[in-house]
Formats: sequence, C-alpha cells, structure tokens
Amino acid sequence: MPLDEYRRKRDFSKSPEPPGDPAPRRPRSPKGGGFFGVQKHLASHLHYDLRLEHDGVLLSWAIPKGPSIDHRDKRLAMHVEDHPLEYGTFEGVIPQGYGAGIVMLWDRGTWTPEVDDVDQALRKGDLKFTLDGYKLKGSWVLVRTSGRGSAGARGPDGRAWLLIKHRDDWSGPIDIATFAPLSVATEGDFADILAAEAPDVWTSNRPTAGRAAKAGSSAKLLAEVVERAAAIRRDRGTTTPRRRQRKPP
Ligand code: MN
Repeated sequence: MPLDEYRRKRDFSKSPEPPGDPAPRRPRSPKGGGFFGVQKHLASHLHYDLRLEHDGVLLSWAIPKGPSIDHRDKRLAMHVEDHPLEYGTFEGVIPQGYGAGIVMLWDRGTWTPEVDDVDQALRKGDLKFTLDGYKLKGSWVLVRTSGRGSAGARGPDGRAWLLIKHRDDWSGPIDIATFAPLSVATEGDFADILAAEAPDVWTSNRPTAGRAAKAGSSAKLLAEVVERAAAIRRDRGTTTPRRRQRKPP
C-alpha cells in the first residue's frame, strides 16, 4: 500500500497527524500535478518538507536548508515516504514520536509537471515542474544525485535529490525562507502555533531536550519558541478579561 511506511512510523493515538486513506483516490487530473505545499518543520533539526500531489498521495522531500529561489543554489532534498493528501495542509504540534516538533504550513498552491510522464521522470531522477504558490512560483527541477558511495552522509542510495530553481521571472537573489518566514495558513510563527495548542507536553516532555548537545541550534531555537509560546499564553491570560469588558455606550 502506498502509505505503509508513513503509517508504520506513526502512532495516531498520540499524534495529531492524519492517518490518511489506505486506498488513496485516483489522480484528479490525468496530466498530473495538483496540490503542492511546503511545511516548515521544527523537529530534531529544522527543515522544510516539500509535498507534491501525485496519484492520490503526496510525494515528499525533506529539505534541510529549505527551498531557494536563487537559481545558483542547489538544495539537498531527501526523498522520504509518501504522505496522505490530508497531510498537505496540516499545521500543529506533534507531541512525541516520529517527527516530534512543530509543523508550520509555510507555502501552498498548485504544481504542474513540465514533463509528459511524472512516473517516468521520477524513475529517471529528473522532474521538471512549475509551482504556483504564495511564496514559490515559476519553474523548478528536482534531480536525483548518483548517491553512490554517499550513503553515510546522504542517507540510503537514491534518496538524495537536489531542488533547483530555474532562472525566470520568479527567481532572484533573495533568501525566501528569511524574507517570508511565517505560516500561509495563519500568518503566525512557531511560537503562535505552539501557543494555540496545549503547551503542557513541552514543559513535561520536551522531545528534543535530551538531544540538546547534538541538535545544537535546533534545540536552542525550540527553547526560544517554547519561551515565546509561554509568553503569548501569559499575555492572553491577562488580556482575556479585558476583552470581555463591555464597550461603553
Ligand atoms: Mn519533516
């Protein structure tokens, strides 16, 4: 089944992530394409997950540095397991287990293949496509690297790809991840997403706390996010009664 690996890695009684339909629907369009999204994921390491709808599931690549709209950049993109379609708009907190951390919907829109046969392009390791999102637009390519002899550094053979922006009207020397860091769903940051949910798990059971030494900057960032989320909750606590007051006539 297409989502076996996705389901095997997760305990849906403990994770708010969608289990997905075990028998995904047929593709919406015979030409391919459809939904695309990028989720900014603060887990043991901060990364960005690119999702492309294909044959009823979301093809997925984890991009450590995030997408770049500078055509001179080649961003490592690790091909990971297919995700259910419902995952594409997920934003929230994964309290424990696989991928524990905070997921932000960083960009969304539609994608169109620039090839006739997506499956063939995936096998070949060269998928050209157009994105029409809020932040990412224009022409892109995913190219699989040879992977030979690089299993240690880059994961299992065949999983390492590069995401590259083609030079067009939508490319430029802008650090898009820094320029547009917030959620396209809520316009919030990680702290806002965390504050919107019960942050208790983070004080009692911080998933990355034990890995602080190894994770370095990610653990530090998470600690800051938890601090800010707690501050947002405190502010809300003090402003709520005021908001309840009736306006003077
Ligand atoms: Mn991820």
